[in-house]
Amino acid sequence: MDTILSLANDAQNIWKQTTLHQRILLLPKLSEVLLENKIDYATIITQEMRKPITQSIAEIEKCALLCSYYYENAEDFLATESIKTEASESFITYEPLGVILGIMPWNFPFWQVFRFAVPTIVAGNTVVVKHASNVSKCAELIESIFEKAGFPRGCYQNLPISSNKVANVIANPIIKAISLTGSEQAGMAVATEAGKQLKKCVLELGGNNAFIVLEDANVEKAVAIAVNARMQNAGQSCIAAKRFLLHEKIVEDFITQFKIAIQNLKTGNPLEITTQIGSLARIDLAEELEVQVQKSIAMGAKLILGGNRKEAFYEPTILTEVSTEMPVFKEETFGPVAAIITFKTVEEAIALSNKSEFGLGVSIFTQNIAAIKAQIPAFNEGAVFINEMVKSDPRLPFGGIKKSGYGRELAEDGIKEFVNVKTVVIN
Ligand code: NDP
Repeated sequence: MDTILSLANDAQNIWKQTTLHQRILLLPKLSEVLLENKIDYATIITQEMRKPITQSIAEIEKCALLCSYYYENAEDFLATESIKTEASESFITYEPLGVILGIMPWNFPFWQVFRFAVPTIVAGNTVVVKHASNVSKCAELIESIFEKAGFPRGCYQNLPISSNKVANVIANPIIKAISLTGSEQAGMAVATEAGKQLKKCVLELGGNNAFIVLEDANVEKAVAIAVNARMQNAGQSCIAAKRFLLHEKIVEDFITQFKIAIQNLKTGNPLEITTQIGSLARIDLAEELEVQVQKSIAMGAKLILGGNRKEAFYEPTILTEVSTEMPVFKEETFGPVAAIITFKTVEEAIALSNKSEFGLGVSIFTQNIAAIKAQIPAFNEGAVFINEMVKSDPRLPFGGIKKSGYGRELAEDGIKEFVNVKTVVIN
């Protein structure tokens, strides 16, 4: 650990002296390495965490897109800004902070890392990444990809430690800030340690997104998007739709179509390109999901599809007659389980949507855009998507409020999280 941190520190002392222009020139190569090897890299993702191969390929492509995005925009985002004051000159510069620790999860083992590391390194920092213990090959591979793309040694390093060593790393004076994507529990542990050391952290934690379908929505379109929003990556996504709030007039139509669409999803070997939904990443995750479903059924939820587990495979599941006290409503379900609850008015739907400790995002389906736009401030969320599933996009800031964490990734906000916003006044 000491060797890795010292190298990161030495590398940063040199890296920060390069110009932003020199740094972004490495991004096209990074993107090229990803795209040239996308099948090999995607195969490793799938072998380690069982995501269907087509989704692993899409993940690699999205990382390449992120590189192109910051290649095109980083210089604008971090350009010195002149501010008019009484002084003869006043301006703001954006300078790197130093070595930043990333603690990353397994559910998108490339994307989560790249969206942290690329803007952070481009801003002039170096990074050390403690990746999730169940994706150690991806962790090593990512370090080698940065090397292949020509980043100087020490700019990106894998830090293969267990989570009980993280507090020591946070306490090390070389580490200047931390970014974590993971569970609420990991978030609390990391924020506590960061707080003790007065170090900044960005936390991207869980979500329990509502997917609201209003009476006037195009149900067919909503269903097609709902299947993807809940079942992509076997439901293991912080921004997946988890609670389905359906207007009582469309609920039957929605459920009929939703059930058929889910039954049509092809399960099987995740390395086959035809497979659409696979196992969860680990057996304990499937077991935890099973408990959440079983408890909810015992409390009165009606199982209308799925509900069985075979090792790490959990059948795509639909529960109706869900109430707000049940685990499938209150807790994050990190797997292919759709919890359905009905409502009568838009106000009721908003109240149900907000009845969550999390605040990552919400999807609302309606044809009356003007009416729903007027309600956007009523949603306590980091993102509101209308007639679309909540998804990340390099061009848009990403992050939550409440127990979903704080800080933002991606876009201009993301690259400005780990910089010193330096005010300069000259008289
Ligand atoms: P964790 O939050 O435990 O893992 C995410 C990362 O945090 C891993 O690198 C992990 O390391 C690390 N970590 C865990 N605990 C600590 C700690 N106390 N201090 C420092 N680092 C820590 O997620 P799980 O894999 O256990 O998944 C459990 C649940 O978390 C899921 O069911 C889901 O609800 C949520 N989750 C949310 C994600 C998101 O995208 N927001 C991503 C992943 C999970 P290690 O693997 O070594 O334990």
